[in-house]
Amino acid sequence: MNIFEKLKFHLKNDPNYNKFIKNLSAQITDVSHITIITPNIYIKNYIKRKYVKKFQEFFEKELGITPEIEISTKKIEKKVINLQPTISNSLLLPEYTFETFIIGSSNQFAYIAAKNVAENPGNAYNPLFIYGGVGLGKTHLLQAIGNHLKNKLRVIYITSEQFLNEFRKHLSAGEMDKFRNKYRNCDVLLIDDVQFFAGKDDTQEEFFHTFNELYQQKKQICLSSDRAPKKINNLVERLKSRFGAGLIVDIQPPELSTKIAIIKNKCILNGFKIPIEVIEYMATELDINLREIEGVITKINAFAKIVGIKEITIDFARQALKDYIGDRKEEVTLDDIIKLIAKEFNIKPSEIISKSRNRKIVLARRCAIYLARELTHKSTPTIAKYFGLKDHSAVSHAIKAFNKKLKEKEFKMKIEELKNKIQLKSE
Ligand code: ADP
Ligand code: MG
Repeated sequence: MNIFEKLKFHLKNDPNYNKFIKNLSAQITDVSHITIITPNIYIKNYIKRKYVKKFQEFFEKELGITPEIEISTKKIEKKVINLQPTISNSLLLPEYTFETFIIGSSNQFAYIAAKNVAENPGNAYNPLFIYGGVGLGKTHLLQAIGNHLKNKLRVIYITSEQFLNEFRKHLSAGEMDKFRNKYRNCDVLLIDDVQFFAGKDDTQEEFFHTFNELYQQKKQICLSSDRAPKKINNLVERLKSRFGAGLIVDIQPPELSTKIAIIKNKCILNGFKIPIEVIEYMATELDINLREIEGVITKINAFAKIVGIKEITIDFARQALKDYIGDRKEEVTLDDIIKLIAKEFNIKPSEIISKSRNRKIVLARRCAIYLARELTHKSTPTIAKYFGLKDHSAVSHAIKAFNKKLKEKEFKMKIEELKNKIQLKSE
């Protein structure tokens, strides 16, 4: 069942099914564009008024993206510009653009290089080679180049694995002309994960010629890999040197602030409302890479809907995502902290959570709050409640004040010692 048949099936019990839905058909030109064909103008207008939103919601749910929906009364003749090489953009995901890419010091050079290439294809750097670990945004950047150029130029985005499969298929079918026509006549060739070419000698040979042909015509080539060209074993020397002939940039794992910004952005793009403290929790505590993050936020959001809670809390996130949490030690509790601090400062636990403004007690309280933030996963509102503070901003205030005190070297040492003590206790 294709997505449109699925949609019809989904609406089977709609009271207007027979009258309006049953005779619809669809033309799906690419994932971001669906044309719905109606038998007459009357149905067309009715569908436009009453159903488009429903359709959109369905596609959104099923595909994870919102396609543009066009309602028409007749089949749209696909503009046939170039009969021979059909350039397929269908592998370009519309959400992978420069606008949705978060820039941090870990990826800024790759971003700038990709942007330059997109703005000046064939002339900036050729080829552009981007490498880095899983989930760091290589595919996103390659696709951003493709999306930027796809309306002006013949762009092909493909993974090296797909390239290989297509090559072998055409080879055994005796249709190499077709294959060469396609790949040697594009303006921009984006090949993802070229490390996969390692050891595939026949494909390397073919790709070498594709590369040369395009390169000589000043067509843009962009490649990605999980490692630098020189480090790809079982790749012939001449390809290694070709790959390195333009610009090589790497992407490093994101620093925490970038990671948080990326997750935040994904939530916005998906329309999920996840509080910032939960996002921070996910960024610091989950053993996941960015490629998995979309799945994780979708999961937690779906969970929240199923359970019917309004606000996603850290505790809830921990429950929902327990499969992603690495093997961590038992968590330090707020009680552990209060107990130890009371002992160290020689005061009563109740004094820590009292409203007393006594200097020693205030310091002990701030210290406990600081440790609560450092050593537990509790959110600032939870900590505020526990310590009897007005709200989360009082927690931030206490931590700020305490950080000032921490500038004293001796004091800092003492606190580090305390930290170790608490952690040892909870093991
Ligand atoms: P790679 O190809 O390097 O394995 P991807 O490009 O597939 O990684 O990225 C994995 C996911 O993380 C994608 O959803 C991508 O949009 C997202 N992502 C990675 N880096 C960034 C970034 N800097 N800004 C926004 N999203 C990012
Ligand atoms: Mg990738």
